[in-house]
Amino acid sequence: MDNCIFCRIARGDIPSATVYEDGDFRVILDMNQKMKGHMLVIPKEHYENLFELPEDLAAKAMILSKRVAHAAKEALHPQGLNLLQNNGEVAGQSVMHFHVHICPRMAGDDTFPAWGEAAISAEETEEIRESIHKEVNDEAAENPAE
Ligand code: 5GP
Ligand code: ZN
Repeated sequence: MDNCIFCRIARGDIPSATVYEDGDFRVILDMNQKMKGHMLVIPKEHYENLFELPEDLAAKAMILSKRVAHAAKEALHPQGLNLLQNNGEVAGQSVMHFHVHICPRMAGDDTFPAWGEAAISAEETEEIRESIHKEVNDEAAENPAE
């Protein structure tokens, strides 16, 4: 993926503020940090989003995100931390190469989006629960976790 900016960064073709690298991932500071220590965990192989990402890399991405979160806690002493992972333009994804945002938080920082509440009836909530329950169990039956 020569035209993918994160492929080029992850391969090391483009310099980046790298905090960690191994065979599967590069972790960099976001070029426009939304808060102090805002980092991106980027797999070296190109997968567009969570839906494309193989389960073994998804597991590794979460373990590495946990390690980097611990490191940020020790190094920067944030009061909290968010993990964020956007899929699709409507969800705020701007770079179409899977990545996890690590967002150290301090009281009073106001650059992270606050969530509103969607008005969903009890009836609709049950329909939603049923439909996802069915899909996730069908999926688990067809493809047991590795
Ligand atoms: P998304 O909106 O896709 O979830 O997040 C993409 C993030 O990548 C943004 O926070 C943006 O600032 C960051 N970003 C985009 N291009 C580059 C780049 O070339 N270098 C670095 N370090 N970050 C980038
Ligand atoms: Zn890519």
